[in-house]
Amino acid sequence: MSSIEHTVLYEQGMDLDFMERVHEIPGGGAIKRCIQCGTCSGTCPVSWAMEESPRQIIAMVRAGLRDRVLESATIWTCASCYFCTVRCPQEIKITDVMYILKRLAIREHRERSKRIQTFSRLFVELVNEYGRNHEFALMRRFLLATRPFGALKESGVAWNLKTRGRLPLGAKPVKDLDGLRRIIAKAQELGGEA
Ligand code: SF4
Ligand code: SF4
Repeated sequence: MSSIEHTVLYEQGMDLDFMERVHEIPGGGAIKRCIQCGTCSGTCPVSWAMEESPRQIIAMVRAGLRDRVLESATIWTCASCYFCTVRCPQEIKITDVMYILKRLAIREHRERSKRIQTFSRLFVELVNEYGRNHEFALMRRFLLATRPFGALKESGVAWNLKTRGRLPLGAKPVKDLDGLRRIIAKAQELGGEA
């Protein structure tokens, strides 16, 4: 016999201003118009791999389930393909909402986003060093920072890719690296959304 589990949600565990907060951030403006039609979930090519569907995430934001939303792997599973945004009958920018939630999760140092933060920091470091990404250096630094024993395990794959000319080991800086650094410094000075 199957059983149905019920979860009781108490008001003190909710952030009743959460939807207003998301609504005020550029990209989140139409979230109040959601009619829970499920078109986004039916359209999403990776909803099968998500903990909660896009429709559920929107419903959870509206219900003030801030912690559950910001700890959900769904926001990181989103592939930013914009299918849902194009098809939403209420013109809700669901992809942008996912980005808003990712930024909030990073800003609040949520557990689920820690590896993403490491990846992002290392990527920015490489761009500052070379003016561009370098896949080999990024993967090496990321593996060493997050699972050093995994780095040893992956070294065989890296060697195979290298011998087939698919993974250049040396990073070459862009021509006007100093110019690019000045642009990045100016952008950081101007600030804005993280
Ligand atoms: S498609 Fe739009 S209106 Fe429908 S559930 Fe998704 S966000 Fe809400
Ligand atoms: S943008 Fe994200 S949530 Fe929307 S359909 Fe694509 S993967 Fe799914």
